[in-house]
Amino acid sequence: MTILLSTLNARYTHASLGLRYLLANLGELQEQASILEFVIGAKTTEVVERLLARKPQIVGFGVYIWNVEETSRVVSMLKRVAPHVTVVLGGPEVSHETAEQEIVKLADYVVTGWGDITFAKLCGQILNGPQPLMKIHAGEQPPMDAIRLPYHLYSADDIAHRTIYVEASRGCPFKCEFCLSSLDKTAWPFPLDDFLSQMESLYQRGARLFKFVDRTFNLNVKTSLRIMQFFLDKLQAAPNDPVYAHFELVPDHLPDALKESIAQFPPGALQFEIGIQSFNPEVQALVSRRQNNDKAADNIRWLHAHSHAHLHVDLIAGLPGEDVDSFARGFDHLVSLGPHEIQFGILKRLRGTPIIRHTGPFGMVYDAFPPYTVLATGKIDFQTMQRLVRFSRYWDLVANSGRFANTVKALLGDSPFANFMAFSDWMYTRTDATHRIALDRLAKLVGEWLQERGMPRSDAQALLASDYAGQAGAHGATPKAPAAAPERQARHLAA
Ligand code: SF4
Repeated sequence: MTILLSTLNARYTHASLGLRYLLANLGELQEQASILEFVIGAKTTEVVERLLARKPQIVGFGVYIWNVEETSRVVSMLKRVAPHVTVVLGGPEVSHETAEQEIVKLADYVVTGWGDITFAKLCGQILNGPQPLMKIHAGEQPPMDAIRLPYHLYSADDIAHRTIYVEASRGCPFKCEFCLSSLDKTAWPFPLDDFLSQMESLYQRGARLFKFVDRTFNLNVKTSLRIMQFFLDKLQAAPNDPVYAHFELVPDHLPDALKESIAQFPPGALQFEIGIQSFNPEVQALVSRRQNNDKAADNIRWLHAHSHAHLHVDLIAGLPGEDVDSFARGFDHLVSLGPHEIQFGILKRLRGTPIIRHTGPFGMVYDAFPPYTVLATGKIDFQTMQRLVRFSRYWDLVANSGRFANTVKALLGDSPFANFMAFSDWMYTRTDATHRIALDRLAKLVGEWLQERGMPRSDAQALLASDYAGQAGAHGATPKAPAAAPERQARHLAA
């Protein structure tokens, strides 16, 4: 095989959409190319051995924040044992600040930004000459209708066992400084009819789990409505073989027409990932995030009350200018709106993002190694940040897991942030661990904590028993994995 496209995915279930775009757009070279994906944690020697077994002339790696360290080891070993193999890098992690990156030094070429067209051109030059003079190639952004859609490249195995990632548009018109999409300045839609016909053929081939990676799915309501209608039609035609769709939404833009469409989806068919990040207007202004907080809150409330959509809402701790009290107020406000999951993230400094301008003035200290997590800010010292990191981990185990739906309500009480932080501090003192805590042990610890806080033993046991029996959903709302949902959806919801 002349050209091998490879990456290390975060999980087996994540099929790389980026590699499939590259393959689909290779033109005449496509016949000599194939994809070989790995999962983080694979042994470097095995990865290199399996790559070389295909006898490639060129290996193209997709490099992301979660795989850059392991990919660096793979590239280093590959170039040592097979220096004749040409290594080309692409992906967000190597699209900015290339000069200082070890992996870039190890590679032969790098394509920054959009690789769909430029990777094919570069491979043509490497194979047929004239040899490219430059190491770094800025990806050319073609018209959207010049990009071949890659969905036919999802195999039957991908469709049966993996999440199918799709995108109806690229880019984002907003400018949140912590986000790489802030550099886009706008969003570019793919031709909608072509896109929907590809969705139709995926559906006919058996795909039932569609994850949209569009950054702002609800920006163009006409387009959103047609896509939603596609799924509604499928659900109506085959209610016993339901389809499931995941979209990312901007929270303050939900016109009535979209609400009407959303309200028609049955339980277990729709998931929304909604970025709030911070409710503090001063912090929002500092990071150039435009958000109408009242509208955003109303919309989350509406979705919770009037739709069956599973709501996963993101908050970020450690933003410049935000202290713990401000974050706690935002967290408590969000809990009161009733989302099924709160993704409590810690700020990361992604390469190329404009948030770097706040480093000096706001005392931002980031880890030098991926994923470049913030370690301290002028408002939050290192020790407190570590408490927040543990909060986030325990929050995933106890609240987001959906396993303690009834108990979590009692645990949070009237001051969710303060009460969960006290629980988190206690948990760490008791266990000295944030990982590898078996479910039985976790349940026992949660019960002990409730008793320490004054709950009679029998009440704590009854609460935990009701959760074991699966009587209610996360934060007292709809069940996280509805009993009626097909197994594959339940698996996804529990992921
Ligand atoms: S955080 Fe969301 S809205 Fe803001 S720039 Fe990134 S993708 Fe766009």
